[in-house]
Amino acid sequence: MDNRVKIADFIESRGARYNEFADEIWGYAETAFREHRSMEAQIRLLEEEGFKVTRNVGDVETAFCGEWGSGKPVIAFLGEFDALAGLSQKAGVACKDPVEAGANGHGCGHNLLGIASIAAAAALKKIMADEGLKGTVRYYGCPGEEGGSGKAFMAREGVFDDVDAALTWHPANCNYTAGDSSLANTQIYYRFRGVSSHAAAAPHLGRSALDAVELMNIGVQFLREHVIQEARMHYAITDAGGVSPNVVQPYAEVLYLLRAPKSGQVKDIVERVDRIAQGAALMTDTVMEKDFVKSCANIVNNETLERDLQKNLEYYGAPAFDEEDKKFAEAIFATTPEAGRYEGIIKHVSKDEAGRKALEEAKKYALPCTILPYVPTGIAQGGSTDVGDVSWKTPTAQIYMGTWANSTPGHSWQVVAQGKSAMAHKAMLQAGKVLAATGLDLILDPELVKKAQAELKERLQGETYVAIPKGVKPRGLSGAKN
Ligand SMILES: [Zn+2]
Repeated sequence: MDNRVKIADFIESRGARYNEFADEIWGYAETAFREHRSMEAQIRLLEEEGFKVTRNVGDVETAFCGEWGSGKPVIAFLGEFDALAGLSQKAGVACKDPVEAGANGHGCGHNLLGIASIAAAAALKKIMADEGLKGTVRYYGCPGEEGGSGKAFMAREGVFDDVDAALTWHPANCNYTAGDSSLANTQIYYRFRGVSSHAAAAPHLGRSALDAVELMNIGVQFLREHVIQEARMHYAITDAGGVSPNVVQPYAEVLYLLRAPKSGQVKDIVERVDRIAQGAALMTDTVMEKDFVKSCANIVNNETLERDLQKNLEYYGAPAFDEEDKKFAEAIFATTPEAGRYEGIIKHVSKDEAGRKALEEAKKYALPCTILPYVPTGIAQGGSTDVGDVSWKTPTAQIYMGTWANSTPGHSWQVVAQGKSAMAHKAMLQAGKVLAATGLDLILDPELVKKAQAELKERLQGETYVAIPKGVKPRGLSGAKN
């Protein structure tokens, strides 16, 4: 029997169990670095599948690794399991209806993400054991993807250094192999300390921290003209100093999120923003303190792995959706914002005839039941992910599998509503099969591993990984309820 058929049979035979775990984690909906129950669930599943589990990987409390086998190659599957704040939503309904207003929800499908990657690891282990193949299979439980960059903290500690290749996926509203990149980013608090004073009676004695924040922001607005086009500089005033205009604000704080296509470019922008912050402190006679939160690297694409993933994605195709799936997908599709319709597909098809055809075909269905052609652009698509950090350390590639109705926006109540649906379950298992089959290709063909590694070296062109500074620790999302 073909190994890819064996992989599918194994994953389908365990499917009901995998679905249970994905649903359990959907229920916990824990945000970055607080995913203790979700982690315990995944560890239970890994142990059930016969993996040896190591906790506290890279000195991150909710990071862990399941391992089976020995020696080279080391093939890793990456999984996530964190939720988003404020996206609580009932499952299985096509209208906005929170379980508990303001609570968390799995608005990015990470309840499915980790489980499919465990399924892939388990299926690969099964084939390797049956056929007596050599090598090591790992599943990395990577916490805090949303706003936390868990993998960047793990990468800083060398967690992925001995991995020969890493594979992952992400839930989506269409099916494709990622041939595009993501933006590198860095998040930093700038805090200013001044002197409080009566704003009318003794303004000359006050030193305003709020003035410093405002001047810093103006400085950065002027900087915008003098950075590369693709840079993004976002900020939030997280503490404006208080509610009293008759007090000179002695403390104020602004959080910056700086992005660019490459980690080195972000580093340059950060240095310039730092100098603006120092300038604002000088102008206002306040004291500035910088608090580095986290950073993540851009994705270094690996066409060798991507082509293999696409081959297996086309082999398995979209899952066999049924009438019930179709009805639910149509109801969800009707709620999606018209302005964003088909955006996921438009972004990932080429601008030529083949791309137009693929778009027209995909548009016919509310369900993600077509496989988009592979387009290796290497261009950053706007967002950021800490998968990028792994991709600097070892050849890494990912697929996107349609677990949600066509045009479902990311980080939305619609994602949460579909998170326990039959269509999400089916697509999750399908993703597991594609990852396992590519893992097996790597185990069976040492030349493929070598080629992927040579490609990574070639793409990096001697550039070195920009790690999160030593001493910076992972932290959860402030204001999240859990
Ligand atoms: Zn995500």
